[in-house]
Amino acid sequence: MKHVTLPCGETVAALGQGTWRIGDDPARRREEIDCLRRGIDLGLTLIDTAEMYGDGLSEALVGEAIEGRRDEVFIVSKVYPHNASRRSMQASCDNSLKRLRVEAIDLYLLHWPGNVPLAETVEAFETLRRAGKIRHWGVSNLDTALMRELHDVPAGPAVQTDQVLYNLGRRGIEWDLLPWLHQRHIPVMAYSPLEEGRLLRHRGLVQFAKSHGMTPAQVAIAWLLARDGVIAIPKTGSRERLGDNALALEHPLTMGQVQELDALFPPPKGPVPLEMI
Ligand code: NDP
Repeated sequence: MKHVTLPCGETVAALGQGTWRIGDDPARRREEIDCLRRGIDLGLTLIDTAEMYGDGLSEALVGEAIEGRRDEVFIVSKVYPHNASRRSMQASCDNSLKRLRVEAIDLYLLHWPGNVPLAETVEAFETLRRAGKIRHWGVSNLDTALMRELHDVPAGPAVQTDQVLYNLGRRGIEWDLLPWLHQRHIPVMAYSPLEEGRLLRHRGLVQFAKSHGMTPAQVAIAWLLARDGVIAIPKTGSRERLGDNALALEHPLTMGQVQELDALFPPPKGPVPLEMI
């Protein structure tokens, strides 16, 4: 497994597991739990969830999946922007901890920017950290301007990641956000690395994958893994597709392949507003 170092010095798996829409369908529950456990076996030990996902169903399913394996995993969860205040964050975090059945969340993120001032959110994160309820904190969906603002508030530089939309077809962050984060050794957590599955039907990607003996999902993931300071969190509830995704680790892209993909999916030629799903 490739690892990525967080600013705090801890290392995490560069390939993790997303869990949006997991736990929504009771008929798929067993398979989804089995899949997350199998993912841990394969080294995909970073698991991303949020209080928003299925209104807590995703966190509850993750809690069940990691039972007896707490020490093997690195749990990332997220707080709604409207709960990211001095008043509400504590209760949100307590509820997430209960659903996840853990004593502490490894990395707790602001899900997207809202109306609560960033300084207040950071203060609330730091209070939880001192209480031992979260080990680290970070953000999601913050553009470069907001990252600068965050970095300037007291304790702002303790941010550990910015989780953003990033995949072959969404390279806007390479213009300014990614370099800004790299300079500060803050890794990016790439969400929707398969564009929710849509990227896998891209004709150029399908042809590229076929000609290099890979699947489109393996190419999309291997492309992210080829970049420094990037953590990818694809979601799947299927054991078969999990195996497909994990094989990306065994297909590191060559410089030539990366250049070929640049021609198919060009990097940005100027600033692009941060995109969100
Ligand atoms: P992904 O890009 O990970 O795509 C997931 C979709 O692709 C699912 O429908 C899955 O279906 C399918 N899929 C997975 N692997 C394969 C494969 N090998 N072949 C074919 N299809 C495949 O989308 P997500 O939006 O789920 O993003 C990943 C994670 O990022 C989320 O689960 C969540 O944890 C996080 N996220 C964070 C956001 C934020 O605002 N911070 C926003 C969006 C996502 P199936 O399950 O049936 O295999």
